Amino acid sequence: MHTFSGIPGRLVCLMPFSRVSGFRGIEVMTKQKFIFDLVKDRISEVSEIAEYLWKREWAERNAGNISIDLSAFFSQDHISQNAQFVPCSLPSAASNLTLFVTGTGCYLRTLITKPEQAACIMHINHDASGYHILWGGETPSFKPTSELISHVNIHAFNRNTNSLHKAVLHTHPIELIVLSHHALFDNEENFNNALWKMCPEVRVFIPRGVFCAPYQITGSEALADLTIKGLTSRDVILWEKHGALATGETIVKAFDYLDVANKGAKMLLLAWSAGFEPGGLTMEQMKELEKFI
Ligand SMILES: [Zn+2]
Repeated sequence: MHTFSGIPGRLVCLMPFSRVSGFRGIEVMTKQKFIFDLVKDRISEVSEIAEYLWKREWAERNAGNISIDLSAFFSQDHISQNAQFVPCSLPSAASNLTLFVTGTGCYLRTLITKPEQAACIMHINHDASGYHILWGGETPSFKPTSELISHVNIHAFNRNTNSLHKAVLHTHPIELIVLSHHALFDNEENFNNALWKMCPEVRVFIPRGVFCAPYQITGSEALADLTIKGLTSRDVILWEKHGALATGETIVKAFDYLDVANKGAKMLLLAWSAGFEPGGLTMEQMKELEKFI
């Protein structure tokens, strides 16, 4: 999601990046490496997915944001005394979450080779009155995504419902966005049937379908609430005329939901571009596929 100039994010914490020199600087760097090593496989996956997003033209400029709940990897002992504390008001449900989160205004393509510049690992304190930066954020004036509260709410919701989904991905899948301009978008059941009938993979790997979220301004609480509502029943949240969001056990799985759903949208648009209405799988054929779900 973009942070458009003139539209203030709901999160107004400022975290000036300060460089620490001398022995203490070495100590901080050592602790940062220790933190990174604990979760380097997860961050490596983020770099892999960021490259896909860039090559697919789903992440122009500073579009999109990513977060991963890494709480299971960390204990209180990992909260370095040298870590910067940023006071701000976060939802109480976010207490003690440790998150990998991309930065506001940062380009997702930077994650491919320099994730420490475009993202950070943050630990939200016990009373959710702020967070420590444990790793990354190595860009002057770095701040977490302006969508931080939305991401935090999704992770808190997943924690409370014992969901295995730890990753959240918002990006701009082209064909899904185009379809959100079509009248089909106004009827969610018809929209999903139109995607599912395009090929078996869409029916099997997006079994709960797409939630069609009517247009709301980027970064708004209304959009965040709609997204949480959609995630209770659907695999992919499509924000009208904007983009899409999915969660998954890993960032790779979250990407897969968006990739497969967008494939259905692309095939549908290709058929229309060629001038015919696709016949599609029959209801009987779709029913038969349910044994793979
Ligand atoms: Zn967006």
